[in-house]
Amino acid sequence: MNTENLSTWLEIDLGAIRDNIHQMQTYTGVPVMAVVKANGYGHGLVEAARAAEQAGAAFACVARIDEALKLREAGLSLPILVLGYTHPDWAAQAAQNNIRLTVYDLEIARGYATQARASGHTLKVHMKVDSGMGRLGVFPEQAVEFANALRALPGLEIEAVFTHFAIADDPARPETAQHIAAFTGVVESLQVAGLRPKIVHAANSAAALYFPSARFDMVRSGIAIYGLHPAVGDAPLPAGFRPALSWKARVAMIKTLPAGHGIGYNYRYYTQQEERIGVVAVGYADGIRRRVGNFAVAGGVRVPMRGGMCMDQCMISLNDAPNVKVGDEVVLIGRQGETSITAEDQGALWGTINYDVVCGLAARVPRIYID
Ligand SMILES: *Cc1c(COP(=O)(O)O)cnc(C)c1O
Repeated sequence: MNTENLSTWLEIDLGAIRDNIHQMQTYTGVPVMAVVKANGYGHGLVEAARAAEQAGAAFACVARIDEALKLREAGLSLPILVLGYTHPDWAAQAAQNNIRLTVYDLEIARGYATQARASGHTLKVHMKVDSGMGRLGVFPEQAVEFANALRALPGLEIEAVFTHFAIADDPARPETAQHIAAFTGVVESLQVAGLRPKIVHAANSAAALYFPSARFDMVRSGIAIYGLHPAVGDAPLPAGFRPALSWKARVAMIKTLPAGHGIGYNYRYYTQQEERIGVVAVGYADGIRRRVGNFAVAGGVRVPMRGGMCMDQCMISLNDAPNVKVGDEVVLIGRQGETSITAEDQGALWGTINYDVVCGLAARVPRIYID
């Protein structure tokens, strides 16, 4: 791995993703559908999916049809589900490429059926139930009627029924039990009507870990396979999972500024004393949030960033890291010596969650894979 000549980069440990998937399989006792939408939560769509396939994931899922087609172009052969909206124009291509689409609306499903039939293929669909999220899905009481209507559409095969839980990442809240009960009721009614599909899936990472009755036939795990906590404090990962991603950048220049010197655009920081400042080759266009009060790790210690973030650069204080020199590594996510800074830490600082931190890592940042 040669990163000497890079300004900023991500190091992604594919072995960690594989191990995390094994952990999830062992912990839940059911197959895993690896969630690789949004460029694999920033880790790389194709690479994350390939690691998942190697680890024995039963399925991969994405948000959009173009993500699924990219996986097929890259040669991945495991079953793929598109979780989100897909226009009927894509149905034939989906069917031809063994890609499953989500159905929750009869008009759209009719469009899929027509397109699939015209192409001479059967399209596998996963029927979505809204167990309380208020997002995609038919209401529980409509599920049997909807399944019957789908069954009447030649060209479609109902492979699965699924739902997504609104609050599983806060296990202390009572609503998830109600959501699980509502969905379990749907599965039972489908069973009674002779319509239960082969696969029932419901749990995201938090539900998979914290609600055994939500595991059904398969769990859909995203955040946990990257070794990140579903929710800090409320739904932490059990021991054995580990983060796959580190984010680093290099020191481009070091200078000493006198007390009272402004730093960066609009002088959002003034030196309080003479201060040794490192200019680092990473900025908000790489995924750092544009705010005052960020941190990084340099010289093995946590150091404050100074001023606002620039698009491609930022400035750090090196008064507590006297040995840092030009070309040295600065860590934005990951570990340096004894000191670490996690995606969860950055999320807390930035007023958001770890999901948003890693999904916000820009496409231009090179991904270096450790296999
Ligand atoms: C993103 C997503 C997941 C994965 O959730 P994690 O919390 O990352 O495990 C599962 N199911 C659906 C429908 C999703 O949109």
